[in-house]
Amino acid sequence: RAITKLTLMINFITISAPSGSGKTTLCKALQLVEPEIEWSISYTTREKRSIEENGVDYFFISEEEFEDLIIQEHFVEWQNVHGYYYGTSVSNLEDAIENNKTMLIEMDVKGSMSIKKLFPNQTFSIFIMPPSISQLRERLRSRGTDSEKRINIRLKRFQEEMKFRKNFDYVMINEDLDLAKIELQKTINKLKQGVTSGT
Ligand code: 5GP
Repeated sequence: RAITKLTLMINFITISAPSGSGKTTLCKALQLVEPEIEWSISYTTREKRSIEENGVDYFFISEEEFEDLIIQEHFVEWQNVHGYYYGTSVSNLEDAIENNKTMLIEMDVKGSMSIKKLFPNQTFSIFIMPPSISQLRERLRSRGTDSEKRINIRLKRFQEEMKFRKNFDYVMINEDLDLAKIELQKTINKLKQGVTSGT
């Protein structure tokens, strides 16, 4: 009896979370244990933090360069987040589709929704929540990269972003970093294997 296999390919896993929810730490930890996972590198006009590297964490470009790239339709989506531009290039996503790859994209909630809308069958969206707003404030303070004013801007945005979580395919809480790391890793591995059904 013939066996037909249907494999659904997920090309894009988007990861969104309010800043300070531990998303970057989680993603970095995942990169260490799963070095073969491909990450989309976004473009941004925000200034580079000292621990970041150009071309690795982001492509850091000027506002003028970013606006030129918008005109040239270089981006599949872009957003102004906290007063800076962030965008994902079309060519990155084309590469994933053409070569049957699964690519992770860290982006804000609106970015995730755009990718989901453009590629509904190829996208799986993950939302990572911090345990509470007070913990979020503490995390942002201890990171020491933002002034109190910037922290308040980020917290205000947090309330906005939380409203979007019901639109995501998977919502997880980052209460314990080690547990969250395992949960994220398992979820991604399942998706990479694809959904297979036989008849
Ligand atoms: P951060 O400055 O903390 O690195 O990032 C600020 C926000 O921009 C985060 O929510 C991050 O996920 C989001 N972001 C990063 N890259 C992109 C992108 O290419 N597109 C969109 N829409 N958001 C992005």
